[in-house]
Amino acid sequence: MQYALTGQQREDQAAFARFADDHLLPHANQWDRDQALSDDIVALLGKSRLLVPTLPTEAGGQGMDTETYGLLSEELGRGCGNIRNLVAVQGMVAHALLKWGTKEQSDRWVPRIGTGESVGAFALTEPETGSDARNGSMTAERVGETFVLNGRKKWISFGQRAEIFLVFARLDGDPAAFVVERGTEGFTTEPISGLLGLRASELAELSFDDCAVPAANLISHGRLTFDLVATGSLDYGRFSTAYGSVGLAQGCLTASLEYARERTQFGVPLGEHQLVRGLLTDMTASVEAARLLCRQAGALRAANHRDAIRQTLIAKYFASRAGFQAASDAVQLHGANGVGPDFPVQRHLRDAKIQEIIEGTTQIQQLQIADLTL
Ligand SMILES: Cc1cc2nc3c(=O)[nH]c(=O)nc-3n(C[C@H](O)[C@H](O)[C@H](O)COP(=O)(O)OP(=O)(O)OC[C@H]3O[C@@H](n4cnc5c(N)ncnc54)[C@H](O)[C@@H]3O)c2cc1C
Repeated sequence: MQYALTGQQREDQAAFARFADDHLLPHANQWDRDQALSDDIVALLGKSRLLVPTLPTEAGGQGMDTETYGLLSEELGRGCGNIRNLVAVQGMVAHALLKWGTKEQSDRWVPRIGTGESVGAFALTEPETGSDARNGSMTAERVGETFVLNGRKKWISFGQRAEIFLVFARLDGDPAAFVVERGTEGFTTEPISGLLGLRASELAELSFDDCAVPAANLISHGRLTFDLVATGSLDYGRFSTAYGSVGLAQGCLTASLEYARERTQFGVPLGEHQLVRGLLTDMTASVEAARLLCRQAGALRAANHRDAIRQTLIAKYFASRAGFQAASDAVQLHGANGVGPDFPVQRHLRDAKIQEIIEGTTQIQQLQIADLTL
């Protein structure tokens, strides 16, 4: 299979790179320090139809194909991991509603997410169940024309900002997915701050105490809800995280190459020292290998190939680990400047660790890849 980009894809890639250079890189360290994104960047992404570009235009997107979405995720990941995470989460929620909701439900919520009028959040993880999310303890009970939700969700990206929450609970013993809007009685959010990385992803813990949502907010219920709605959304997010890790690693490599040319020690640029050249070579090889795995996953996804999910798992597994190693090497190569506030590499190192935890930890990916391969 060939992974050369088409002329259009190259043009799109260059436009995404300019967007990251102009709008993300100048602010990413500040958002990291603030532990919050600016409202301006969220509005700009919505206005540019970049929050869920894979949606049809009438639903607030730009009908972007999967492979181009991968290229976008790479550039967003190079610029700011939090923005890449925001775009992934908006896509996870909007596509779940589009695919599994009724027309009325998707007409009501999806364009709001696509245009940035209302941010969405994906609420699966609970304080006591992360990797084992299938066995969450949040409950829903039918009471008249409502469903009454009780339980808690934790580590929910953009839970501080979101207005539309896709929430998973157990109803009559089977998994179910609901939309809960901010402001619903019995629903509260508590910010989580002080994270190691993805600090501007505005995480929150959510509490549902006898929270009654209209029956019309039930998106899906039944034995397959977890496999279809939750797992399908995570697969979408995983593709973004894989490509985002490539972008992060590329950002680290580019910064390291520049630094190795400019910084002189022992009378020669760092890049003249053989051990430094070894680090740069390892970074180069792993970035390129990770990118190829992402391209392969993208091509299979575009073709609806039966191996697409497995290849996406492999791409995320490899790229997130490669990203962390590249970020660690980049910090090492920058010496004290690597851990200081002026270079992006220390932010990348902290964000890279998170990529190994979200959308399935490295260990869970190992198990899933083995299950699908052996
Ligand atoms: C920045 C950030 C953003 C997040 N955003 C969201 C979000 O928007 N929505 C959401 O629902 N969740 C979100 N999460 C939660 C994330 O999905 C979970 O943290 C993740 O699924 C892991 O769950 P856990 O943290 O409970 O770890 P655990 O499941 O408790 O795992 C702890 C450790 O044990 C290992 N482990 C667990 N089970 C096994 C096993 N069977 N075999 C081998 N090793 C195992 C894991 O790999 C891990 O190393 C976010 C987390 C972070 C940090």
